[in-house]
Amino acid sequence: MAVSFERRQTRTLHVGKVPIGGGTPITVQSMTTTKTADVEGTLQQIYALAAAGCDIVRCTCNEAEAAEGLAQIVPRSPIPVIADIHHQYKMALAAMEAGVHGLRLNPGNIRRPEHIKAVAAEAKDRGLPIRIGVNGGSLDPALYDKYGGLTAGAMVESAMQEIAYFDEVGFTDYKISVKASNVPLMVDAYRMLADVTDAPLHLGVTEAGPLPQGLLKATAGIATLLLEGIGDTIRYSLTADPVEEARAGRQLLEALGLRERKNVDLIACPSCGRAEVDVIDVANRAMQAFGERKLPLQVAVMGCVVNGPGEAREADLGIAAGNKRGHLFVKGRNVAVVKEEDMVEALVEWAEFINEHGVDAAIARADTTLAEREAAKDRGALLDEKGLDANHAQEKIVEIRRTVSGG
Ligand code: SF4
Repeated sequence: MAVSFERRQTRTLHVGKVPIGGGTPITVQSMTTTKTADVEGTLQQIYALAAAGCDIVRCTCNEAEAAEGLAQIVPRSPIPVIADIHHQYKMALAAMEAGVHGLRLNPGNIRRPEHIKAVAAEAKDRGLPIRIGVNGGSLDPALYDKYGGLTAGAMVESAMQEIAYFDEVGFTDYKISVKASNVPLMVDAYRMLADVTDAPLHLGVTEAGPLPQGLLKATAGIATLLLEGIGDTIRYSLTADPVEEARAGRQLLEALGLRERKNVDLIACPSCGRAEVDVIDVANRAMQAFGERKLPLQVAVMGCVVNGPGEAREADLGIAAGNKRGHLFVKGRNVAVVKEEDMVEALVEWAEFINEHGVDAAIARADTTLAEREAAKDRGALLDEKGLDANHAQEKIVEIRRTVSGG
């Protein structure tokens, strides 16, 4: 059953054609790792990111050649492009000239009020949004001193100072991030920020690191806030191919029910003593076979026909192993029996059929009576062979007692 939760009310802004905030779908962002001056290499990465579910991409604009690259990248990019600016406010002006759809400014390293205001005034004239991207690692030293170190309050104050400069030139089209690599600190800072502004918030755990810990840290911070209704756009900052960032962002939003499913949601049992196949291998092969196919279905891989179809009855489609055969089921109903080596191929074929014709048509085309009879046969045989205690727990308990009392 779908569960929904309330999202914080924020203003809406647009990065190109993509809306952010105001209850619009939460977007996924990532950043290219190529030199922005390398136009073809950067575009190749942007296309890969877009295919993996990225809605908005950011490219560094750190030198004149990068700004010139942006002038060629932006018109050919399938998704809006944001220029990432540090230290040099002139690069922000150059990026706007190049036609970018938005800017990210770091208030920790562009600090002169006249520079900030010049950029905001130009963005206002061009109708472009700016992200105030506070980063725990590059906080204004004056705030660091004032707060006696990096605190949530210091990061929020940094954002508020930037907003005050924006207000002076009447610029309101901004979103904010207060990223830190420390998860509890980042969560605290965003909660504090959500209390004092209705600007859309961009969530992220900065420098989360390589996989898998980077994924865990970023998910811990981002998911916690999203479940509280905080956050309008997200980025995973991983030390990995940026395609992994886009995939992770997309998958998190789909898992939380915040974005419509695009690809297969593969669920699989953890396997146990009852498993009739190597569940990890079948699940991995199925993941690979589904790849980036746009099949928005939940598909289950279950280790045994004894419990599999029942435990995964909510899945659109599943397969459970038994007696060297794969038992396919649709919404918990057995629909076909295939050879064990054909399990993955059959899953893909049925998933494509369901995607095109629906669950009812899939059940209608099956000989469910035959499939159910065969499943019952294998289930019965496995129960006879392994009994109810497939993990042999009772035998182990008897052995443990013998060992303990014998000692
Ligand atoms: S009982 Fe069957 S479906 Fe459940 S974990 Fe064990 S092998 Fe998987």
